[in-house]
Amino acid sequence: MEYNHIEIEKKWQQYWSDNHIFEPKDDYSLPKKYVLSMFPYPSGRIHMGHVRNYTIGDAIARAYRKKGFNVLHPIGWDAFGMPAENAAISNKVHPKEWTYKNIDYMRKELSSLGLSFSKQRDFATSDPLYTKFEQAFFIDMWNKGIVYRKKGLLNWCPHDLTVLANEQVIENCCWRCGTQIEQKEMYQYYIKITDYSKELLSDLEKLEDGWPKQVLTMQRNWIGESEGLKFKLKLSDESISKLDNKFSDFEVFTTRADTIYGVTYAALSPEHAIVKYIIENSLLPVDKIEHIKAMQRVGARERAMSEKEGLYLELDFVHPLTNEKLPLWVANFVLSDYGSG
Ligand SMILES: [Zn+2]
Repeated sequence: MEYNHIEIEKKWQQYWSDNHIFEPKDDYSLPKKYVLSMFPYPSGRIHMGHVRNYTIGDAIARAYRKKGFNVLHPIGWDAFGMPAENAAISNKVHPKEWTYKNIDYMRKELSSLGLSFSKQRDFATSDPLYTKFEQAFFIDMWNKGIVYRKKGLLNWCPHDLTVLANEQVIENCCWRCGTQIEQKEMYQYYIKITDYSKELLSDLEKLEDGWPKQVLTMQRNWIGESEGLKFKLKLSDESISKLDNKFSDFEVFTTRADTIYGVTYAALSPEHAIVKYIIENSLLPVDKIEHIKAMQRVGARERAMSEKEGLYLELDFVHPLTNEKLPLWVANFVLSDYGSG
């Protein structure tokens, strides 16, 4: 007799579904296990990466069921994002319609693989059931001051009139239309992770034994240095009058206070108020001004990857310890969001 996989798999998948075999039981005496695979993005079709990924989670869930655990192995759809918007624009359909159609199709494909998900707990992150909790968390964080509003620089596409994430900027151009992006100062929401950086950094030590070194290093770099010294540097008298007495000093931040004595220059970010004033009032030759404007157009991520560059602002400041006059520069590696810019 030939093995007819289409017939046999269909038969058993139907049986599993009719008898709710993979739903967790309402029996609190059993040991519990929660097995969660990363939700797929409803991009349209299942590919081999999905097959590999969800087979691993499925094998783990099935193994725990065999060992007598009450297993919750849910599935959902990570449904928000620009790809849905892009597809909706190019196919001239509403993003909601496009997204839920894909989910229906992909759910059928996944279930034809015989994966043991809980069908009763299937949801999309765009369902009101889910978004209402996200909104509640956001409001809680806002009320506690962990979420706050502040002006910041964002990647802006002047053609699509939209903000772009760093991942949506390709070689300094919009991934959707190819227009060169701009850095635009806008109000945006921030989460005060800095309040937790000490805790996050010290807790990484607990992971020292089990986690790969480079993962821990990446986490440390991402959390960043929380301690440093903030102080003001005075501009020279000539520089103050050059700036029409509008500025007399500027704030700097360093994580290495021990190196102050050996300072040979200071650098401002291209977005610093002094730099803006210089541009608005044409206090530098045209080619230098154009160069600074070019720096301003580059997004934060591209800046981090591009060659370090800077230029002399034709201003000087006074070294706080030696009273020596030192040059003030503008540089693309100074971040306006870090320290005081
Ligand atoms: Zn665009």
